[in-house]
Amino acid sequence: MLRELHKELGIHADYARETGLQTFAEASELVEVGPNLVGHMQRLTPDAGKHWREMAVSAAEDNILILIVSGFRGVDYQADLIRKKIAAGQQIGDILEVNTAPGFSEHHTGKAVDIATPGSRPLTEDFEKTEAFQWLRAEAAGFGFSMTYPRDNPWRISYEPWHWSLK
Ligand SMILES: [Zn+2]
Repeated sequence: MLRELHKELGIHADYARETGLQTFAEASELVEVGPNLVGHMQRLTPDAGKHWREMAVSAAEDNILILIVSGFRGVDYQADLIRKKIAAGQQIGDILEVNTAPGFSEHHTGKAVDIATPGSRPLTEDFEKTEAFQWLRAEAAGFGFSMTYPRDNPWRISYEPWHWSLK
């Protein structure tokens, strides 16, 4: 099914080998963790949701506001995201530098969170200049979260200082 989907989107059959990325199974159980900045309810696994809430509370105690931009995203959602970009005229090769192929997004697990903070445009490298990012660097590991795509990661995925996941 993933193979057919990739074929439809023009994703190379060698994608996994070329990128070294792995597939992620979709989470089977999800809990709501609150709406994102544009009011869309976000979901994580019960475990990730619990740790996320604890981390957000702890950050708030240090006067740091961390906000969820995106939690769980299904394979179909990821495919639609890519279809929209193709329809808007983007090349699949360029799209895959910023979006992983459907089936390969860590957001499928329900354990990955894209994080924003006031004063910094969401999902941009600017996030690394924020106090929230410094706080996460120091404290997130204590809640089980780590950055998945640091600078110069081996998967050639763009540096994503905003993307953290429960490991
Ligand atoms: Zn992400």
